[in-house]
Amino acid sequence: MVGSRLRGGVGFPKFVVPTAPASEHNPSRPVTTQAPDSIDSIMAEKRALKILFKTYWSSKGWKSAGNHNWVPQTPPNELAYAIGAGVMFPTRTPSHDESIRRIENLRRDIAPRDVGAAFIANLFSGSIALRSALASYGVALHMPVHSFITSGLGLRCHICGSYDTNGERDLNVLSFERHKWGGVRHADPTYIAFDLERFSAESDHQPSAENRRDFCALLQLIGAMPAGARLADLVTAIKPLVPGGTAQRRCVIATMGFAGILRIPGRPGFFREFTPVNEREETPWYKDDWEYPIRWWRGGHGIDHEAVSFWFGHFA
Ligand SMILES: [Zn+2]
Repeated sequence: MVGSRLRGGVGFPKFVVPTAPASEHNPSRPVTTQAPDSIDSIMAEKRALKILFKTYWSSKGWKSAGNHNWVPQTPPNELAYAIGAGVMFPTRTPSHDESIRRIENLRRDIAPRDVGAAFIANLFSGSIALRSALASYGVALHMPVHSFITSGLGLRCHICGSYDTNGERDLNVLSFERHKWGGVRHADPTYIAFDLERFSAESDHQPSAENRRDFCALLQLIGAMPAGARLADLVTAIKPLVPGGTAQRRCVIATMGFAGILRIPGRPGFFREFTPVNEREETPWYKDDWEYPIRWWRGGHGIDHEAVSFWFGHFA
């Protein structure tokens, strides 16, 4: 591990371990505790998600697979419907610096406990998309407020690793990935800003007592994984607890890695400090597309209880 690490954003509160139960919520966010969403809004979201998924995905996978000239096609009336439902979005051209500024504001406005609560409430059922904010906020936690600077990485920012294309970004593919897997590009400032903005706009359900029990069981299972266990073993081990497919379970594990919940000695990742892109080391073993820092995880190192308290409170 070499080089200086970066800690803290300008004006961002320092890390504090909370002592109260996870019961406080940001009053600016719509929070749903008892009353379910109306049938109409559920049906509208379902229809909008169908339009979104149909744009990018078929029974054979990505519609863009093998076609570099592919562009998403959504019938205008369907696109308008999905935009109205808050599932698809007009094209935007967010610059690197704009995304960083938005992240600075969002992490000031969103309570980490709300992100943790939404993760637990939606881990065993509910919205896969609402799990994503824990990963995005995890990466953003100590991300320095910075301008786009390149240094030996070609066109990439030497701090966050993003490209400053100043071109159009397809927010709908980000929305698709968020709803299908719980996000993919959690270290990309454009995605982080998009994800946290959606999180702020969407109501969520607070976790039930059963959700919390199940999450405790998940933490105990992870903590009890035998020394040397690999990520593939962990993906298999959590299958009885976390429904969905392998890709969703991989995303859940990566999310807990971004948030610092799984201990990875020697590689702090993002929970206590921000690791710049050129210090996110690759593993010497087979590269299998796991993100940093979770790619370094091995069984036997347990759970970081400080991180658990930070995101979820003292219940685990
Ligand atoms: Zn950057």
